[in-house]
Amino acid sequence: MRIGTGFDVHAFGEGDSVILGGVRIPHMRGLIAHSDGDVLIHALCDALLGALALGDIGKHFPPGDPRWKGVDSRELLRAVVAMLCERGWRVVNVDSVVMCERPKLLPHIEAMRACLAADMAVSADVVSVKATTTEKLGFTGREEGIAAQAVVLLERIGSAA
Ligand code: MG
Repeated sequence: MRIGTGFDVHAFGEGDSVILGGVRIPHMRGLIAHSDGDVLIHALCDALLGALALGDIGKHFPPGDPRWKGVDSRELLRAVVAMLCERGWRVVNVDSVVMCERPKLLPHIEAMRACLAADMAVSADVVSVKATTTEKLGFTGREEGIAAQAVVLLERIGSAA
């Protein structure tokens, strides 16, 4: 078994929606990013890579690389999961938390779990997505941005390809 952790932040900017866990959520602002700014998927990718000490998302998908401009982060997640599979590992479970005051995430949690589970080829019942505010404290509390944290457990299913 291997465990990994990931964390990500994006600042609010121009826009009318945010994308979290692969789900577009209407909001009065968007998230500034080279990609689609999906902090939850970015934290999850870092956790998956971290479990196998494979570096971070910036190493595999450099933000300066035009190939990744505006990329759907779900593509990145699928690519990371493919990397783990090639090395003979599978996802046991994921736990995660998204931190923001707004938008309210509760109505979107199930859709996020379904998206993430589909991209990792696991059942939604091993994918936990939680939401919290930070009681109006800090940058998330001031609604300057959104933060996300993820933890994953991997299990070896075979020898490395
Ligand atoms: Mg990011």
